[in-house]
Amino acid sequence: MAGIYIHIPFCKSKCGYCGFYSLPSLKLKDRFLEALKAEIVERKDYLQRGGLRVKPAIAPVLEDGCKLSPIETIYFGGGTPSLLSVDEIQDLLHLINKHYPIAENPEITLEANPDTLSLDYLKSLRNIGINRLSIGIQSFFDNDLKYLGRKHDACHARQCLDWARQAGFSNISIDLIYGLPTSNAEQWNQNLDLFFEYDLPHLSAYALTLEPNSILTKQIELGKAQPISDDDALRGYHILCQRAAAKGFLHYEISNFCQRGMHSKHNASYWFGTPYLGLGPSAHSFDGASRQWNVSSVEKYCSFSFCNEKEQLTPEQQYDEYVMLRLRTHWGIDLKWLKREMGERFSTYCERQALPLIAQGRLSQTREFLYLTDQQMLFADGVAEELFI
Ligand code: SF4
Repeated sequence: MAGIYIHIPFCKSKCGYCGFYSLPSLKLKDRFLEALKAEIVERKDYLQRGGLRVKPAIAPVLEDGCKLSPIETIYFGGGTPSLLSVDEIQDLLHLINKHYPIAENPEITLEANPDTLSLDYLKSLRNIGINRLSIGIQSFFDNDLKYLGRKHDACHARQCLDWARQAGFSNISIDLIYGLPTSNAEQWNQNLDLFFEYDLPHLSAYALTLEPNSILTKQIELGKAQPISDDDALRGYHILCQRAAAKGFLHYEISNFCQRGMHSKHNASYWFGTPYLGLGPSAHSFDGASRQWNVSSVEKYCSFSFCNEKEQLTPEQQYDEYVMLRLRTHWGIDLKWLKREMGERFSTYCERQALPLIAQGRLSQTREFLYLTDQQMLFADGVAEELFI
């Protein structure tokens, strides 16, 4: 199994809290698409090299006998991928289809912002094969949206969810943000009420954080916007975990909740160490043994200069990554897998480091799995550090 991530680095304007790399203008869009198409073709063999292990049973065999790992997930992320026209997205999908082995029924996700959506656009997306939407709703309240500097209003956010259903999408995720100074616990509960009323299968919910150099951070520093508080974020997280559990949602990653079987296959592949190819400026790739970073400047990318840096992972780095990524998930660290795939040295080390953390109640263990409960998950990074080599 392998996945392709495509980074679309444009937004209509910059949201106040945003720390992602994106340009608030479409001036370079046509040149970017030409470069992206070139990169799609140029890197078509990336997932067949390096330490990639392919299960022969599911891998198609090329004429030269080389086995190809089929692409099971394609993810258009950003930025705002829904700023692309349907024809532009279809062209990209055609090119990927032509040059990569695609599995049957791949998960194809498009991140979308409400201010770019219409019923016709959504219907056309569905017709070209997009089968999963991730919509940046953030809140169903106008005062929150204004504070965040979002371009849509609450009414349009709800309209988009109706349209997505009418267009035939069933696999829909939305993003919500909690810990906002503009909303209290009651308002956050009402946001969650609306999410559950729509009967959507997936929720990504994030605590508001202040990114260095974001517009919001500067406004708060200047006293022009209300400051945020850790207590509000913690309260929001606890409400979120309780409400999701009561509705039978699986809390499968710190910020991600789903109905059974409806997790994001693409994002789960990051946590499972599955190889993926990242296309577009600032996209990361992983071939099973090394990581690569694309150049993070759209201008440089548009001059066909794609890859920036490459890092070969040592076994110790692979262990650290495994620990860090898996502790963020409800699947946790599989000690049996660690012993079998990485050797006894690593599994024994991990078990030894885990003992005091378990005794302190910071980590839980069931048979051969080490994992974090809902309450412990918030401190995943600190726990992971204690397990690192
Ligand atoms: S739409 Fe997303 S990527 Fe674009 S500015 Fe807003 S938060 Fe950042």
